[in-house]
Amino acid sequence: ALELQNLTRRFGPTTAVDEVSLKIAPGELISLLGPSGSGKSTVLRMIGGFETASAGRILIEGRDMTPLPPERRPTGMVFQSHALWPHMTVAGNIGFGLRLRRLNRDEIRRKVDEVLALVGLAGFGERSPAKLSGGQQQRVALARSLVLEPKVLLLDEPFASLDQHLREHLRDEVREIQRRLGITMIFVTHGQDEALAIADRIAVMRAGRLEQIGRPEQIYRRPESEFVAGFIGQIS
Ligand code: ATP
Ligand code: MG
Repeated sequence: ALELQNLTRRFGPTTAVDEVSLKIAPGELISLLGPSGSGKSTVLRMIGGFETASAGRILIEGRDMTPLPPERRPTGMVFQSHALWPHMTVAGNIGFGLRLRRLNRDEIRRKVDEVLALVGLAGFGERSPAKLSGGQQQRVALARSLVLEPKVLLLDEPFASLDQHLREHLRDEVREIQRRLGITMIFVTHGQDEALAIADRIAVMRAGRLEQIGRPEQIYRRPESEFVAGFIGQIS
């Protein structure tokens, strides 16, 4: 479904992402794992269209996305901090993109209710996002992306600001939603435990390059470099 071909991003003298090539199957969940500064967010932002590529291509279902703005890509993105619109209700936040797509009021309400139930927030539509907990806010952010039915959902450390217990819980819920909807997902994390728990395959990044990609047990049992062994072996 998603293919990256020699994707590269330079910032002045820094090569943040260095010729990353990767194929992700439809319905697959890939974790991008790597230390701070290794280029994970930059890869994600390029796929979402929030950052331009210096070189290389992004294909989704064979179509070249590289020149398209974010709103013309079949992608959704959830960031670490939620950035919900505080002056709108939860339902208003989630339905905003549907209004832009000119769906009628009844359709919007139906889809919003459906996705609220999916993320475990049935009945929360008329609340103000400011009065929700951090975890609930991230659920709203997830719902806001899911309601637009993206082919590829990009999550950049979506639960990093939450406590360990809640993070694990939400991670499992995301996995379940991902399976149920059959959606292709890239989940960025710098927690190896998180990657091992959630991913079909893990892509380990180091200094802008893809160091190794494989199933969790391959990465765990047969690391191909000292770097991967050291990184995966850490207890967080
Ligand atoms: P973290 O785990 O801390 O979020 P990351 O793996 O997501 O790190 P990126 O944010 O992709 O890393 O950054 C990769 C490299 O690109 C870093 O060296 C960073 O300083 C640099 N970089 C990212 N964005 C910019 C920018 N807008 N201008 C200049 N340099 C940037
Ligand atoms: Mg990042």
